[in-house]
Amino acid sequence: MSDFPIIKPLLVGVFPNFETSTFLYGKRQGQKEDFPCIMFLIEVNGKKIVVDTGPCDSEKASKYHTPIIQTDEMQPYNALTNIGINPEEVDYVVLSHLHWDHCSNCKMFKNARFFVQKAELSYAIAPSPLQKRPYEIGFDRLPSWMDVFQQMEPIEGDLYDLVKGVHLVTLPGHTPGLMGVLAETKDGVYAIASDCVPLNENWEGDGKLKHIPNGIHINLEEYEHSFDKLDKLAKVVLAAHDFKTLNKNQYP
Ligand SMILES: [Zn+2]
Repeated sequence: MSDFPIIKPLLVGVFPNFETSTFLYGKRQGQKEDFPCIMFLIEVNGKKIVVDTGPCDSEKASKYHTPIIQTDEMQPYNALTNIGINPEEVDYVVLSHLHWDHCSNCKMFKNARFFVQKAELSYAIAPSPLQKRPYEIGFDRLPSWMDVFQQMEPIEGDLYDLVKGVHLVTLPGHTPGLMGVLAETKDGVYAIASDCVPLNENWEGDGKLKHIPNGIHINLEEYEHSFDKLDKLAKVVLAAHDFKTLNKNQYP
């Protein structure tokens, strides 16, 4: 087993024909594209860490949220078992934030410790009216993230060395308690930035803006500080909803 973390991105759903400007702070209005939902597996020193657990199935997504395509092989359980990982052997699950497309399917990680920011958990229980739907508040069922409420370990601020070389860092802006993961790979520090960086274009900027915020956000100033933090700490940033992230089976 490698001493350095290896990151594997897994396709767990697709938003079909989705308005691109939603992710790009209003840029490209009227343009529609397909965007993937991605779950990440990090393996290091015999430990298995899952970062985000994907969206619900397409039936629930259409009923409660926005349509998704989720073939059998994209189903998060199958996405993991297809690469030889039994969800019950996952040691840690990091929930970057508690929007539905990042934290459904938690139940299958029966033996994992779940990490989430305290600020995210607090906000998820009582979000602003505009954010009730993505957090699944006010539905005819409990939010899916509550399936593992008793397994959750809320943390406050950055947590270094969850496992040696894997760090959890706050990146608020998109949501109050968004948390990214930094992995000190043999090729430098890779960041899983979640919805802080949904597309590569968010990170690459447009010549005027160094980085472009997600159109869905609750605090722009905090968001800018999060970009500064990523600039300082990460060599490579992996986008959460960009097919380019899936161009490789593993990083590095
Ligand atoms: Zn989100």
